[in-house]
Amino acid sequence: MSEFARQIAAEVARRRTFAIISHPDAGKTTLTEKLLLFSGAIQLAGTVKGKKTGKFATSDWMEIEKQRGISVASSVMQFDYRDHVVNLLDTPGHQDFSEDTYRVLTAVDSALMVIDAAKGVEAQTIKLLNVCRLRHTPIVTFMNKYDREVRDSLELLDEVESVLQIQCAPITWPIGMGKTFRGVYHILKDEVLLFTPGEDKAGQEVAEVIQGLDNPRLDELFPLEIEHTRMELELVKGASHPFDLAAFLAGRQTPVFFGSAINNFGVREILNALVDWAPAPGSRDASVREVSPSEEKFSAFVFKIQANMDPKHRDRIAFLRVCSGRFERGMKMKHLRLERDVAANSVVTFMASSREQVEEAYAGDIIGLPNHGNIQIGDSFSEGEMLTFTGIPFFAPELFRSVRIRNPLKLKQLQKGLQQLGEEGAVQVFKPLSGADLILGAVGVLQFEVVKSRLENEYGVDAIFESCSIYTARWVSCDDARILQDFEKSLAMNLARDAADNLTYLAANRVNLELTQERWPKVQFHATREHA
Ligand code: GDP
Repeated sequence: MSEFARQIAAEVARRRTFAIISHPDAGKTTLTEKLLLFSGAIQLAGTVKGKKTGKFATSDWMEIEKQRGISVASSVMQFDYRDHVVNLLDTPGHQDFSEDTYRVLTAVDSALMVIDAAKGVEAQTIKLLNVCRLRHTPIVTFMNKYDREVRDSLELLDEVESVLQIQCAPITWPIGMGKTFRGVYHILKDEVLLFTPGEDKAGQEVAEVIQGLDNPRLDELFPLEIEHTRMELELVKGASHPFDLAAFLAGRQTPVFFGSAINNFGVREILNALVDWAPAPGSRDASVREVSPSEEKFSAFVFKIQANMDPKHRDRIAFLRVCSGRFERGMKMKHLRLERDVAANSVVTFMASSREQVEEAYAGDIIGLPNHGNIQIGDSFSEGEMLTFTGIPFFAPELFRSVRIRNPLKLKQLQKGLQQLGEEGAVQVFKPLSGADLILGAVGVLQFEVVKSRLENEYGVDAIFESCSIYTARWVSCDDARILQDFEKSLAMNLARDAADNLTYLAANRVNLELTQERWPKVQFHATREHA
């Protein structure tokens, strides 16, 4: 192995790239801030979180975008922890939930699932976990808000196991909750970490530790709670699974931690789990072959494109996940779909709080490439070899609008605009086999607003979006061309072609979809589609 290859391998080994999956309000923003504080990447509480202070949350990019154009600050946060380089990718939630949120998950090597322990498993968490499952992404779980009245901990584990179909291995266990929250017992280390409340605790402050669950000091401090915890732990031993690294790495088991993000309690344990157990970047399928992260040649793929909402600055930033080699500022890389050389001088990445110019990046790192709209989701880059990275799918939309225009003379512009916005991944565009109106599909409502305003600003088209009675879409395929022809003929009313000309079934409701699937057993219905 050359010195260069050895250096790359060492850089790859110390990288961890992950995202937080959670339902809105579970505590993602709070936890992000505490993780950054803990690593020393930011100094002050309140830099990420903004609802109370009036400053914006770095994770809420839409707000920031409105104010100053493209914001990438929130999209990727890179920080150092224990001699590791940690990349935390934002998964836009709330009203800015979109397909990007899903696609971010195709660019990470592990995920941190945050659950509001008062609520349990919620809808968006289920959706996001299902996306992680496509790639068997390892999941670390954090049960948040133990400083409040929460649900029974065993019941929570049971719900995760049954609803999310993943084994739970508790690593810590809570002692009390709400007003009587005393801390957590670390099952693997046999030590109790004492809880002290305080929202503005400094990042590196560490809880006081008491050795041994049977330590009499615990009986002096909080006899009731510790007795209850000892009893619960007996049950836990019988009802849950011991931690198994291989099962975690295969995405079958999740280590579970308990704590309170806002009180900065339990955060260090999560960071340690990510560094100690979560995988470094691995090999990626590039169609022609597998690409290993420590190869000397650079390669990357695009998983997200963020456009500027300011009409005066139409630049977009394509987010590339590096898959191999070393990126260096000024290097030449090839945009493989267009077979065009790109000089990477203006590539950006963002540290925790401020914009930084990347000098070099390795597998697992994210770089941002400004462009004028010629880069698409799923595009691959290399130093010349024709690679096509796979596993960056389109997801079946769950929201639909039909599109009309006020001025029929603008039809060409509308079609061009939607074609480009569709290729960029801002929205999915379907052309029904019968009927004239185009149909737009999205997973978050914000996508429609963005598309509407971009059609106006960038293409001069005043489009009308109307709700339509479609419940979901499925891409269809069939090995038998004759059956597919029959299918197309009989169901033309429900069929459309997407931007890449793939046949798509648009179902009015769940029952309709199920009946059609039953009636056409040879036809396959897909909820995701790979990029062409
Ligand atoms: P996000 O929507 O997932 O980003 O959630 P936020 O981080 O914005 O948190 C939602 C709300 O829960 C906010 O009011 C937070 O202050 C609160 N919160 C977050 N973590 C905790 C916690 O550990 N305990 C309590 N009591 N509240 C919390």
